[in-house]
Amino acid sequence: MTAVHVPGTPVIDDGHLVSTSPATGEEAGRFPVATADDVARAVDRARAAADWWAGLGFTGRRERLLRWRALLARRIEELAQLVHVEGGKPVPDAIVEILTAIEHIDWAARNAGRVLGPRRVRSRLILAEFTGHLEYQPYGVVGVIGPWNYPVFTPIGSAAYALAAGNAVVLKPSEYTPAVGQWLVDSFAEVVGEQPVLTAVHGLGDVGAALCRSGVGKLAFTGSTATAKKVMAACAETLTPVLLEAGGKDAMIVDSDADLDAAAEACVWGALTNAGQTCIGIERVYAVDPVFDAFVGKVVAKAERLTVGAEGADIGPITMPSQLDVIRRHIDDAIGAGGRVVLGGPDAVRPPYVHPTVLVDVPESSAAVREETFGPTLTINRVRDADEAVRRANALSYGLGGSVFGRRRAVAIARRLRSGMASVNSALTFAGMSTLPFGGVGDSGFGRIHGEDGLREFGRAKSITRRRARSLLPSMTFERTPADVARLVKAAKLMYGRR
Ligand code: NDP
Repeated sequence: MTAVHVPGTPVIDDGHLVSTSPATGEEAGRFPVATADDVARAVDRARAAADWWAGLGFTGRRERLLRWRALLARRIEELAQLVHVEGGKPVPDAIVEILTAIEHIDWAARNAGRVLGPRRVRSRLILAEFTGHLEYQPYGVVGVIGPWNYPVFTPIGSAAYALAAGNAVVLKPSEYTPAVGQWLVDSFAEVVGEQPVLTAVHGLGDVGAALCRSGVGKLAFTGSTATAKKVMAACAETLTPVLLEAGGKDAMIVDSDADLDAAAEACVWGALTNAGQTCIGIERVYAVDPVFDAFVGKVVAKAERLTVGAEGADIGPITMPSQLDVIRRHIDDAIGAGGRVVLGGPDAVRPPYVHPTVLVDVPESSAAVREETFGPTLTINRVRDADEAVRRANALSYGLGGSVFGRRRAVAIARRLRSGMASVNSALTFAGMSTLPFGGVGDSGFGRIHGEDGLREFGRAKSITRRRARSLLPSMTFERTPADVARLVKAAKLMYGRR
C-alpha cells in the first residue's frame, strides 16, 4: 500500500505505520508495525527490566523520574511542536497539555514512597498480639494503551504513576499519534538507558489487542467506551486487571447566582479547547432560566472571536478525519429535532476544520446531547432550576467530569453530579491537580489515575501479619479448649454485642 491518503489518516506503508498532519498531510512519523510476537517479546524484555527498575527502590526511581521530568520541561517547545504537527493541536494547547503531564510526573515521583511504601498498620483488640504490615508491590509490566487527543497527558497519566510504583511500561500509542508516543519513550531512554523500562509497540487496534493478551500484570486503557469493552473482554481471558478511562459527555450547570462572564469564559474554553476533542470537554450546558439568555449571549460573543486554522489559530483541524461525519451528523440531527443555531451550524464543518458551533433548545433525545461529539460544538439548554439541571446532566450512561458555576449551592450541585470529577467555577481543572484522582463512572470507565488512588492502581496491596506475643485468647488453632471458645463467645458479646 502507498501512503497517498486523506491527510491525518494513518496508513500502513511497507510494514510501517505512517502518521501525518491532519492540516497539511505532512508526514509526522514512520514506525515498524509490531506483530503479536513482537508485542510478546517487548513484554518479556520489559519483565526483565521491571526487576531492575523495582530494585532501584522508591528513591532511585524518584531521582530518575525527576530527571525525565526536567528533560521534558527543557524540551517542552520541541514536544509541543511535534504534538502540533502530528495531531493538529495548536501549540499553546500542546504546551498546557505537556505542562500538566510534567506536573503529574513530578508528583508521582515525589509521593510514591509515602503512598505505596511499607508501613505498619495498627492492630485492634482482636489479634492485639499481632502487628500488621502493608505495602503496595508493583505488577511487573503494565500495558498502557492511549488515545490520540491528548497523546502526552493521557499515557503519562498512567505511565508516570505505574513507573513510580516500580513497574516497567509497554505503551501502545494511538495509530494517529505514534511519533509523540515514541518521543516520550526515547526521551525516557535518555535518562534511563540501562534497561528498556518504558518502551512502545506501534500499529493498529490489533496491536493493542495483542498487548491485552501478552501477559502484562495490568492493562491501563484510555480511549472510547466501545474499545474499552473489547479491552476488558480480552483481558478477562487471563484475568488481567484493567483500568478503563473511557469517553464522556460532560455537562456544565450554570446556576442563578453564577458569575456569568466567568462561566462563559470557562464554558468556551472547556468546550472548544483542542477543537472540542477532549474526553472531559464541556459538551452540554444547562443554564437556569433567569440567566439563560444573558449566558448564551456571552458565550456566543466569546466563541465567535476564536480563530480557526492550521497555524497560530485558537482552533486547529479535527485530528481524526472520520470524526467530521459524526460532528456533521450531530449538528444536522440537533437542528432537525428543533434545536436553534446561535453560532456556526451545518456550514461550520469545512474539512479538516470545524468552526465553533453553539446550539440551543436541543431536545435531550438528540445525538448532540446524548453521544460524544468530539468537536468544537456545544448545546445549551434552558432549565427551570438546578434540580432539573442535575437530573438532565445525570440522565446519560457516561459520567466522567462536569462543571458547576454558582455561589451558594455550587459545591452541593457538584457533589450530586453522577461523575468521577467536577470543577466549581472553572472547567477541566481537576485534570491538572495531581493530588486528585481522575476517572469516571458508568460508561466512562472505572479505576483512577492521578493522586494517591492513581498510585495505588499500579501496586498490589501486600498484607503481612506478624506475631509479637503469645495469644491470650487462642482462636485460630486446634489447640483451643472449650473454655477458650466460651471466652471467645463472651468477648464477642462484650465487644460487639451492644449498640
Ligand atoms: P479508541 O478507543 O478508538 O482507541 C484508543 C486506543 O485503543 C488506541 O491506541 C487504539 O489503537 C486502541 N485500540 C483499538 N482497538 C483496540 C482493541 N481491540 N484492543 C486494544 N486496543 C485497541 O479511542 P480514540 O483513540 O479515538 O480516543 C478518543 C476516545 O478516548 C474518546 O472517547 C475520549 O473520550 C476517550 N478519552 C478518554 C479519556 C479519559 O481519561 N477518560 C482521556 C482522553 C480520551 P488505534 O488508534 O491503533 O486504533
